[in-house]
Amino acid sequence: MASKSIDYEGLRKIGVDSPIFVTNFINNKFSERHENINNLISIINPSNGKILGYLPDSSTSEVEAAAEAALAAQESWAALPRKERSLWMQKIADRISSSDWFEKLAMAESLDSGKAIKFCRTVDIPRAEQNFRYFSRLITVWHPDPAIIGDDPSTLHYPHRKPVGVSGLISPWNLPLYLLTWKVAPCLAAGCACICKPSEVTSLTAFFLAKIMEEVGLPSGVFNVVFGTGYKAGQALVSHPRIPAISFTGGTETGKKIALTCAPMFKKVSLELGGKNPSIILPDCDLDLAVFTSARAAFNNQGQICLCMSRVYVHASIYDQFVEKLVKFTQENFKVGHPQDPTTTVGSLSSSSHLDKVKSYIELAKMEGGKLECGGVFPTWDEASAEETRQCLSAGAFLEPTIITGLDPCTSRVIKEEIFGPVVTINKFEDIESVISMANSTNYGLAACVFGKDGQTTRKVAQSIRAGMVWVNCWMVRDINTPFGGLKQSGVGKEGGSHSLEFFTELSNITLMD
Ligand code: NAD
Repeated sequence: MASKSIDYEGLRKIGVDSPIFVTNFINNKFSERHENINNLISIINPSNGKILGYLPDSSTSEVEAAAEAALAAQESWAALPRKERSLWMQKIADRISSSDWFEKLAMAESLDSGKAIKFCRTVDIPRAEQNFRYFSRLITVWHPDPAIIGDDPSTLHYPHRKPVGVSGLISPWNLPLYLLTWKVAPCLAAGCACICKPSEVTSLTAFFLAKIMEEVGLPSGVFNVVFGTGYKAGQALVSHPRIPAISFTGGTETGKKIALTCAPMFKKVSLELGGKNPSIILPDCDLDLAVFTSARAAFNNQGQICLCMSRVYVHASIYDQFVEKLVKFTQENFKVGHPQDPTTTVGSLSSSSHLDKVKSYIELAKMEGGKLECGGVFPTWDEASAEETRQCLSAGAFLEPTIITGLDPCTSRVIKEEIFGPVVTINKFEDIESVISMANSTNYGLAACVFGKDGQTTRKVAQSIRAGMVWVNCWMVRDINTPFGGLKQSGVGKEGGSHSLEFFTELSNITLMD
């Protein structure tokens, strides 16, 4: 990595000429800057190793201040008619998509996480807007629990939902604004004040979201953000006795710690966790579709989407053809490049430490007897590349998309453990029973894909895989009405549509008698 100089060039891309000092947002006010450098975490652009700014490593007392603000705001926010909360959601969506913010958010996401700007413009930021837009609509029409006239006709039982209360929202670094707003929008729509704790690796767009909330003029204390590490600010939020609900997206090991902390307080907890998603390629599939989709599913966002397919099982009769085509397609279409070049499809990984983790799995694959069909190395660049691109590719956390074959499907750790990078393994199978067993052989159960033409077989395979979401002949086709969430060690609870609103509300039954 290059020495930690300031990334002035990057900062200029978001209209700033000096490092950004991210501060907490509590009660609609930005806190004072932490003067003690020991309490600051550097915001690093992983594509060049340079500093974009600093964020506070907030302590328990700052989480406490945010909790006080949110608790004070809770009652009046919950009492607002749904239509009014819906209007607030629309105002926030309008600001995200405005010419003032859209491009700035996209660029900030690309700089902070290293992902390709094209992905930020077409996925991350449009989806953040859509999250508010969607829940602004849903909250006005959502009536999930019908009233019942009892056996005794003089009684009417009616279910009554009210907001669960102040909620802690903890998000990871891979889709920073997208996943944070996936929690914020239903939480606010349902009538809950929130305290957000975004990942310390990618906090910039959460800071800008706070600026948007300030501009919109949301009532004080309804939306708060505390920045910092998981073990300090995150843990303080999770263990706070007066915060009744925690919605968490991140790794399985962190999820376990959060579940343990919350259990004695019987907090409501939603956990969206890690995955090691299998894709099954049946012999009668449309091979070109399977190849094209498998490449996207493995390498989009540098393989750093929880829904990426990182284990591919191909029927023996088409295995050689599939491997050859996937390698060719990957090499021709997934080019590592400067993240802010609009033609780049593969940016940098989110941090140099994450790159080290991913590389260690590639080394492990070699030790386990795997064959690198492509990738596994830092990208190269040619003399014709622009100076900025050459500097960036030599200093940043880049890795070529990597395809590995020849690993033992039963014993390889590379096949069982989550890598969360641009690395995919391919194995052969002979019959449906054995591939279902291989697909189900990890602790995870987040998502899966099946490719094949025979409807009966694809349905049988899809229904036999223990995963929260299974796609047949496609990948990442998401409708935000549908339930989202993993099985096994990939999660507890569902998000999406009414499931999110159910999480942020609690249900009582009221019985009336004439
Ligand atoms: P992580 O678990 O390290 O961190 C996630 C968040 O939790 C961060 O904000 C972090 O600061 C915080 N945190 C860490 N320790 C904490 C603690 N003890 N108490 C409270 N908060 C704590 O995960 P990550 O590395 O940021 O993200 C990658 C992981 O997220 C991968 O495993 C990926 O599969 C998973 N993920 C899952 C989904 C899903 O929907 N299932 C979506 C995206 C990412």
